[in-house]
Amino acid sequence: MYSLPDLEPLRDFNAIAVLTSGGDSPGMNPAVRGVVRAALNSGIEVYGIQKGYSGLLAGDLRVMTSASVRNIVQRGGTILKSDRCDAFRDAEVRQQAIKVLVQNGIDALVVIGGDGSLTGAHCLAEESDIAVIGLPGTIDNDIFGTEDTIGFDTAVNTALDAIDKIRDTASSHERHFLVEVMGRNSGFLATHVGIAAGAEMVIVPEYEVHIEQLGQQLSDSRRAGKGSSGIIVVAEGREPGLTYRLAQQLKQQGEEPRVCILGHIQRGGQPSGHDRVLASGLGAMAVSYLLAGYSDIMVGVAEGAIVDIPLDSVIRYRKGLDPNLFELALLLHR
Ligand code: ADP
Repeated sequence: MYSLPDLEPLRDFNAIAVLTSGGDSPGMNPAVRGVVRAALNSGIEVYGIQKGYSGLLAGDLRVMTSASVRNIVQRGGTILKSDRCDAFRDAEVRQQAIKVLVQNGIDALVVIGGDGSLTGAHCLAEESDIAVIGLPGTIDNDIFGTEDTIGFDTAVNTALDAIDKIRDTASSHERHFLVEVMGRNSGFLATHVGIAAGAEMVIVPEYEVHIEQLGQQLSDSRRAGKGSSGIIVVAEGREPGLTYRLAQQLKQQGEEPRVCILGHIQRGGQPSGHDRVLASGLGAMAVSYLLAGYSDIMVGVAEGAIVDIPLDSVIRYRKGLDPNLFELALLLHR
């Protein structure tokens, strides 16, 4: 487990609320449990907000007890439900949300979600007296300031489970398969999955795809007897279904790859042991940071330790794919 900072409690709160927002990720439940149990242990009332920012605007809050989070640590998805709420980009709408929190006596909020949700969290912190902490919850692992995110490890394992099976068919039929994994802005998931699956190639949004080169590589490897089957992992980028277009282009070069889009199965399923520990730790530490007087920060992971990063930085900067890691993915299949 990561080492935890030593935080001295300096503040008290009337009530803490927690919500999950944006794309769900496996591990959101243990994170909610971490927040609820840590707050209750400190004698603070906790509210669970249903359906992210939409539920906050609608005043859909429920008092959470220790029993509310019993038997959820192993469950995928989020018991609080999640949603996308475009209206929340409007400052006037956010004022209504702040009113809901104040009217319910809530003076602290924990937001679990991806970069969009953390942007909303930063706005709330800036525009009110509510103490706000964000937790990185996304399978993409594309959040600046943290090396790990809740759900990433599970999604890697889910994709690997599928690819190991696809490889059996690829091998039996001597075919190449293009397997599309999630990753809106980044190739973290694709690169990790590519390395762990022993993929013949990894295609990520950070680097241009040279389709002719790829076609050439596939036919060279067949001719050299290196293998007539294999797995090419493709990050969907901003164009889910992009892989069908790549397959079409490869067909024009005489290749006949099959396509498999893993899609939403990557977001679901039981969180891995790693994600359960990470999420539980981040959830509990969010409460410790609140009690120590912090606000407008994300609690994340750096160099083996739980750390805090200003939300302003989290949303301002982009986390770059480690070029050495990508190079490793390419190196190992040569
Ligand atoms: P994720 O949190 O997984 O990245 P989204 O990008 O869809 O998912 O964002 C989730 C929600 O966060 C949005 O539906 C919206 O309510 C809120 N949000 C996103 N961007 C902003 C923004 N610029 N300002 C305020 N709220 C935002």
